[in-house]
Amino acid sequence: MQLIPHQDSPRYIRLHPSDNVGVVVNDQGVAAGGRFDDGLTATCGIPQSHKVALQDIAEGGEVVRYGEVIGYALEPIAAGSWVTEQVLRMPEPPLLDNLPKATIKAAPGEPLEGYTFEGFRNPDGSVGTRNILGVTTTVQCVVGVLDHVVERVRRELLPRYPNVDDVVALSHSYGCGVAINAPDAVVPIRTLYNISRNPNFAGQALVISLGCEKLQASQLMDGDLLTNGMDEEDWLFRLQDSGSGFAGMVEQIMGMIEARLQVLDLRRRETVPASELVVGMQCGGSDAFSGITANPALGVAADLLVRAGATVMFSENTEVRDGIHLLTPRAASVEVADALIREMDWYDRYLQRGMADRSANTTPGNKKGGLNNIVEKAMGSIAKSGNSPIAGVVAPGERIRGKGLWFCATPASDFICGTLQLAAGMNLHIFTTGRGTPYGLSMVPVIKVATRTQLAERWPDLIDVDAGQILSGRMTLEQMGWHIFQLYLDIASGRKQACAERLRLHNDLVLFNPAPVT
Ligand code: CA
Repeated sequence: MQLIPHQDSPRYIRLHPSDNVGVVVNDQGVAAGGRFDDGLTATCGIPQSHKVALQDIAEGGEVVRYGEVIGYALEPIAAGSWVTEQVLRMPEPPLLDNLPKATIKAAPGEPLEGYTFEGFRNPDGSVGTRNILGVTTTVQCVVGVLDHVVERVRRELLPRYPNVDDVVALSHSYGCGVAINAPDAVVPIRTLYNISRNPNFAGQALVISLGCEKLQASQLMDGDLLTNGMDEEDWLFRLQDSGSGFAGMVEQIMGMIEARLQVLDLRRRETVPASELVVGMQCGGSDAFSGITANPALGVAADLLVRAGATVMFSENTEVRDGIHLLTPRAASVEVADALIREMDWYDRYLQRGMADRSANTTPGNKKGGLNNIVEKAMGSIAKSGNSPIAGVVAPGERIRGKGLWFCATPASDFICGTLQLAAGMNLHIFTTGRGTPYGLSMVPVIKVATRTQLAERWPDLIDVDAGQILSGRMTLEQMGWHIFQLYLDIASGRKQACAERLRLHNDLVLFNPAPVT
């Protein structure tokens, strides 16, 4: 990447030597007639983060960014002109039946030894970064009562248990009025099952149920380590069993919660290797800088996590689909490549059922931010995955059981992706944004990375990392990757809080339910 020192002179970034477009860097964009250092002259005004043609492109010619074709010119594009969505025809996605599988045999990176964080060890061997009581729910009907209880617990009980970070109701809209036996119902059910076992919840089983709903508590607590040896009444409360109305329900649930707070309060952080980190990466409100600054910086940090023996996952099916030909060669084995293809194929068919395709992903904000289509967005999105081999793949709602770089198949929706990464077992979440979002979750710290300094400066109390420093030359991509890696260890240890955590900005759990609603 070439960096030009004069802040006000027109500047663009070309990421790959074969690219015939560059991305305008200047905060105010470049005016018509603006001359870039290499003599290229803008033929019209081009906004920041939008693309300038670096050479004449003939009608039907390839428009190349990241070294990949992101579109075909619908009309001749002159050097120096603004390359907009209107002049591009989107390429077809790569076919799934003839992809190279596990062909790149990357030399394993030098192991990173000696990196640790302070975490909470769980009975199942996993490690939490926070000490939270998660209260599982089977159905939305219980949420009003449970929210009331949780509010009282925070006010009346938590101050007496200073080692407990929070009590969180695992509320959702599933559980009843759904085709619970449809094949795809397995997705929301296993999501709830696995979220209840997230490492940040300390292995304490507690389920609040209504009583008559379709989703039964026994589907979420099946006698594994979480409820092993416990009687049902020790971990389950059904509101319909209450003989003394709302007040009785509240009293009963408060009692069950307090018994668990007493256990959690005895826990202490201990020094554990960085390999116990399970980091979930995603992006939202992306712009054309996402693939230049924030996402590649996450990629550098992901490679460091892999070298430290940790688990790190990337997701977002529709933002991976157009780059699948770049990912299957990186699979650690043919089986992993096949699993990647299986998830893409399943999602293609899921979208087809709704008469849509991956192009439905891009938002008006993405386009305003210079991303013309899903192909260009995908190339930036997969930069999060770094260069490590892809060690494994989990389907939506499944738990990752392994180390290294994993693909956790999820929709790209911020809330659904975050929810499914919680089910996959993440104990730390990182989120890149170009347009800006206050996104946060109550179950894990969420670190937010801005793609542009302008956003980081406008939202200093919402953005944890300014990856725009890569553009201005204040930090290299490598330095930013190390900075993020160190931040993972500090935030996991509780030495630092992420902005969304400090401000208690929490989005809802949103389950992915591909099955019918009745
Ligand atoms: Ca997303």
